[in-house]
Amino acid sequence: MQLARFPRRSLAHLPTPLEPMHRLTAHLRERGTAPNLWVKRDDCTGLATGGNKTRKLEFLVGHALAHGADVLITQGATQSNHVRQTAAAAAAVGMRCEILLESRVQRDDEYEHSGNVLLDRILGASIVARLSCGTDMQQAMEDRAAELTERGRVPYVIPGGGSSPIGALGYVGCAHELATASARVDAVVHATGSSGTQAGLVAGLWGSRVAVPVLGISVRSAMSEQRAKVHELAVETLRQLGVTDELPADTVQVDDRFIGGGYGVPTDQMRDAIELVARTEGLLLDPVYSGKAMAGLLTLIGEGRFSADDNVVFIHTGGSAALFGYRAVFE
Ligand SMILES: *Cc1c(COP(=O)(O)O)cnc(C)c1O
Repeated sequence: MQLARFPRRSLAHLPTPLEPMHRLTAHLRERGTAPNLWVKRDDCTGLATGGNKTRKLEFLVGHALAHGADVLITQGATQSNHVRQTAAAAAAVGMRCEILLESRVQRDDEYEHSGNVLLDRILGASIVARLSCGTDMQQAMEDRAAELTERGRVPYVIPGGGSSPIGALGYVGCAHELATASARVDAVVHATGSSGTQAGLVAGLWGSRVAVPVLGISVRSAMSEQRAKVHELAVETLRQLGVTDELPADTVQVDDRFIGGGYGVPTDQMRDAIELVARTEGLLLDPVYSGKAMAGLLTLIGEGRFSADDNVVFIHTGGSAALFGYRAVFE
């Protein structure tokens, strides 16, 4: 499991802190059994309000630089945190950044222009296209890359969410941080979307024979589809690291009960979870990912999934900048 042989550009503040959530734990214990809750602060990776994509971008940008790239192309939903972190990474290494946005969610003017979109602009990225929901975004990026190549540029295409085997290496690194944490970790819970975060965690833990269950709360796809996607990427990530023995399917656990109306569509449980964590811990989650993931964790605790002496780590994957695109939800 050697990460050192992959090109890497330092962008993140690592290791991220692992902090107890004392007040949230106490609040839940007034109502029933609750484990010791911890938060892994991947919202504090440092790059332009931080988030989980920064870990992936260390390897993706390292790879791009090794290939002599001068422009990063990536894509995401309008309020994509991945796009914003990519824009910041490009600025930090002196590359241009071109963005293609997919209109996956119909909301309001603030959704279209505030939050992450505002930050994309401030960071100097060019939004070169806004495409309708269901567009083949990977193809659209490759078409744009071909145009740029023709003009003598050296583009590097980063897939949605930075979820390639190279990007997932960032979460192999996070798995190492968890495996060597001073507290014993009994379970890890986080939001899963494009799947690189969970794939990297599963690959990193399994590859170093650390048997900690990782539960992904899906924000977009149904359970069987998401499990298959994560498993496939975890296998590719392990193969790249030289680990070829078979990854058991049950290392990938996904719960898809908290998606609500779809990707980026608010739910009441998400809003309640965000307000609870804000008011007990002073911690800001996000409306698309970590808010739904926390709604999932709270439900699992209510269902008795964990015992009182378990240490459960919630990975805060970032995204609070998107709150400004969802103002109406909190009024
Ligand atoms: C992208 C993202 C996720 C999901 O991570 P994937 O690697 O895409 O599965 C979770 N939380 C936030 C805030 C994100 O931006």
